[in-house]
Amino acid sequence: MSIKVENITKLYGEQKALNNVSFEINTGDIVGFIGPNGAGKSTMMKIITGFLPPSSGKVIVNDVDVNENSLKVKANIGYLPEHNPLYLDMYVKEYLRFVGGIYKLNNLKTRVEEIIEKVGLTKEQNKKISALSKGYRQRVGIAQALIHDPKILILDEPTSGLDPNQIVEVRNLISEVGKNKTVMLSTHIMQEVEAICDKVIIINNGEIVLNKNQQEISGYSKNETQIITVEFNIKADINKLLKLTDVKNIKQVNDTNYILECKSDIRESVFNFAVENNLKVFSMQKKVKTLEEVFQELTGMK
Ligand code: ADP
Repeated sequence: MSIKVENITKLYGEQKALNNVSFEINTGDIVGFIGPNGAGKSTMMKIITGFLPPSSGKVIVNDVDVNENSLKVKANIGYLPEHNPLYLDMYVKEYLRFVGGIYKLNNLKTRVEEIIEKVGLTKEQNKKISALSKGYRQRVGIAQALIHDPKILILDEPTSGLDPNQIVEVRNLISEVGKNKTVMLSTHIMQEVEAICDKVIIINNGEIVLNKNQQEISGYSKNETQIITVEFNIKADINKLLKLTDVKNIKQVNDTNYILECKSDIRESVFNFAVENNLKVFSMQKKVKTLEEVFQELTGMK
């Protein structure tokens, strides 16, 4: 089950929450959808799930246009909305039967039992939702999203407001249930994306500013600058170093340590430079970026 978002724009009155957004999510991908508050994440998720119409553009879920047949699309999507709205006065089992009833599941009783076990609610299954901790309420939210065994899961900040242990538990649950599904999840926690997602989409001010596989992130740079740190045994001639092809700037940390800003990965020419100038390279490294650094670079914090 794939998702194709094509030129989606969403206006709330005068305000443009999404501006010509396009991206694709392939079957089986687990995608982290991140961006600052107000970037447009929830709006995008509501449009994909058919809960909100776009102002223009379209979303295709496995060849079906969400606008033209939102019921068919909803049957294939499990959605955990932001703030996880639940009926607090209902009992866990009662609520899940109620949700399953909406999907007209014919094996409802067994399915509810199955899903309760899958999300780890067995001990809490006879409690009222209002009596559950936030972590367990979140499991109920995930259970209602999974009850009809959808091929796609859309999770809007599934770990928000949980304590560190609950975060790990819910994260593990998502990894587990996401094995056979296409998953899109929004979060503010970068480690969460690093831990469970194959792909990362960053949205800022209603526009997609990055769409990459997780492995491509560490080498990413907005202006293609590579940072190389090098330590020689003795002082180097900085003017000669500056003449190496693709070197843009050099910061000398001390007599023997240098930080090179380059247009490409020039480690080989730095090594040759050392040999030609009778220097020994004690260490040399290309700086690898964290997702957090890339996020800050792209969303205007740096
Ligand atoms: P995020 O989920 O990334 O925090 P949202 O999609 O909730 O972002 O919001 C994107 C922008 O649209 C924000 O500026 C928000 O204030 C605005 N917005 C969201 N929902 C509504 C609404 N129902 N009416 C008016 N403006 C809204």
